[in-house]
Amino acid sequence: MKITVVGTGYVGLVTGTCFAETGNQVTCVDIDVNKVNKLSAGQITIYEPGLEKLFERNLKEGRLNFTTDLEKGISEAKVIFLALPTPPGEDGSADLSYILGVSEKLGPMLKDYKVIVDKSTVPVGTADKVHAAIAKNAKVEFDVVSNPEFLREGVAVEDFMKPDRVVIGTQSEKARKVMGDLYAPFVRQGNPIIYMDEKSAELTKYAANSFLATKISFMNEIAILCEKLGADVDMVRRGIGSDDRIGKRFLFPGIGYGGSCFPKDVQALVKSSQEVSYSFRILDAVMDVNEKQKLFLLPKVNAYFSNNLKGKHFALWGLAFKPNTDDIREAPALYIIDALVNAGATVSVFDPEAMPNVKGVIGDKVAYAENQYATLENADALIIATEWSVFRTPDFDKIGSSLKHKVIFDGRNLFDVAHMQELGFHYESVGRLPAK
Ligand code: NAD
Repeated sequence: MKITVVGTGYVGLVTGTCFAETGNQVTCVDIDVNKVNKLSAGQITIYEPGLEKLFERNLKEGRLNFTTDLEKGISEAKVIFLALPTPPGEDGSADLSYILGVSEKLGPMLKDYKVIVDKSTVPVGTADKVHAAIAKNAKVEFDVVSNPEFLREGVAVEDFMKPDRVVIGTQSEKARKVMGDLYAPFVRQGNPIIYMDEKSAELTKYAANSFLATKISFMNEIAILCEKLGADVDMVRRGIGSDDRIGKRFLFPGIGYGGSCFPKDVQALVKSSQEVSYSFRILDAVMDVNEKQKLFLLPKVNAYFSNNLKGKHFALWGLAFKPNTDDIREAPALYIIDALVNAGATVSVFDPEAMPNVKGVIGDKVAYAENQYATLENADALIIATEWSVFRTPDFDKIGSSLKHKVIFDGRNLFDVAHMQELGFHYESVGRLPAK
């Protein structure tokens, strides 16, 4: 099938590449000339495990093309995916200007029947708006489908190639058949394609992300309570996670969720609720808990250094909002850096993938180290903000001998508390009991 993906960011590039991998002819359109030039020249623009190999193969075999020309890009496509940004607007609602802007342009460009697919995360009712924007100037038949994306950055290729489910929101039999054919290779193992109406599909995505964010904030509050009551969150987590109704996954406490999705999607659902005069109180609390959680380690750092961080130097491991991605949008590490620098401290950072992005945003506010151990030079303490695998079994002798104080503040509970005590570290983590 010939398909076009408009917007070649995390979702668009993964979507385009994975559809090419199943034999489709894919054109990816983006307004960013620099990005399109790089991709056309075989240079991948995001870090995503497994993506580069698929990207190179499909580019080489001519199934994957990149252009800035929307009209040319869509001319032969049967299906047009919109994988455009939907950032939070000033009031927290999803900004639909990218989606609706492109939709308006599409109208006069359509020469034959096409299926236009909202892949972006969009509020309930957007499919109707997209339909209206295209219809203003369209002379041919078309359908608009809601097909939210559930991939996780860091495992995006795996998630796309073997999705837990595919949600397709359409009331058109014709579009349903096209979408079913396109996704058939991805659900061969029996995972479902769930067909529904457009609005339910749109809400499904927000409900999924908001539920997961709720799970995280819930566990973070349990962790806070553990510290106050003298319980251990690792034990509580295992105790509740073995109940099938709760499940083992997504129960790890930490320093809050970040990224481009959870924060903005929870906020957008709250806003959508307000628009229909409903106050989604649970989500208000989820957001509030998360804001505070990003700086969970700060009181511990302050307490250790007697509330005086002026002139102190910190090593910070991990900048990306989670491991295996270079995405730093809403990353807790950035909030920690701000707080430390505002308190008069300096920071040396290391992240396996996210340093160029951080440099682009905060420049020389921090020093960038060549590797994790180089951050430790002259550092008073080590702070860990992202659970990259490479941080999990570090050389503790090296850490201990490099730091001025043998102290680690771990926002991701990477190490065993008793082991750290044996090694002589002052070790603070999230919601766990000090070793006896
Ligand atoms: P992104 O910012 O990485 O990519 C968006 C791309 O669209 C950019 O390359 C940008 O240059 C391009 N673009 C902007 N305006 C354009 C235009 N007029 N024409 C062509 N291209 C244009 O965004 P993303 O993370 O891929 O997210 C896209 C959507 O998918 C959002 O709604 C997001 O909520 C949703 N989503 C994201 C994820 C994720 O993990 N990142 C997962 C599921 C859903």
